[in-house]
Amino acid sequence: MPLLEMRQVTRRFGALLALDNVSFSVRKSEIFGIAGPNGSGKSTLFNVITGIPFPPSEGEILLAGKPIHRLPPHQISRAGILRTFQKDAEFATLSARENVYASAVYCGRMTSTEAKEAADHALDDVSLKAERRAKAASDLSVFERKQLMIASAIAGRPKVLLLDEPAAGLTKPEVTGLSDLIFTVHRRGITVVLIEHVLPLLLNVSERLMILNHGAIIASGSPAEVVRNPEVVEAYLGK
Ligand code: ADP
Ligand code: MG
Repeated sequence: MPLLEMRQVTRRFGALLALDNVSFSVRKSEIFGIAGPNGSGKSTLFNVITGIPFPPSEGEILLAGKPIHRLPPHQISRAGILRTFQKDAEFATLSARENVYASAVYCGRMTSTEAKEAADHALDDVSLKAERRAKAASDLSVFERKQLMIASAIAGRPKVLLLDEPAAGLTKPEVTGLSDLIFTVHRRGITVVLIEHVLPLLLNVSERLMILNHGAIIASGSPAEVVRNPEVVEAYLGK
């Protein structure tokens, strides 16, 4: 049974079809990539999975075989789906450690002592320097904020982590560092769905991926299969 499955999901905004009959499934412990031109529906896909700010117009979304598309957002998150946003979403005035702790508490499955331990482990996992952990999130560097984002995700112990363009704003060496962070998440047994514009990153970490264009899947398969697909080259890579 797939861990996360979408069946014929459609999302309309008035006359605009932002998602057009999208069906795919993600296996447990997989890193699954999603790419596509701007406006192709990638973030909308994460919106309808989490229910924030809207559910699908039509279709079904299942987590471990159970429908989640009619659940309120807090129940979807409690069921084990955690999402990061394109813009940094940390609490700027809280310290790095407090941010990660908050994420552990919010998942609702830990006592405060357990959450503190989970936070420290997660910060060790991403190798955020000890002397930086008491700094306000807003004082961290761009890459340190990525470390913080990933540590918060790990501490929340989701089943599935949805990452929306995490490489935005990073230099090339930092993108390599981010790949390592994503592999760290994966080693913790968390299934990863990754939306990414930075193709070297997406192709490096994804076991399978799919390409959206105008809300519809135009190709899917292994990275090698997808980059050979002429429709993909035309819609996306050839730009
Ligand atoms: P991507 O993340 O691939 O760049 P999006 O999922 O953000 O694309 O958007 C897909 C399409 O849906 C775009 O045409 C966008 O303008 C439209 N869209 C997204 N959210 C809304 C909304 N809340 N209301 C109206 N249109 C929206
Ligand atoms: Mg987007």
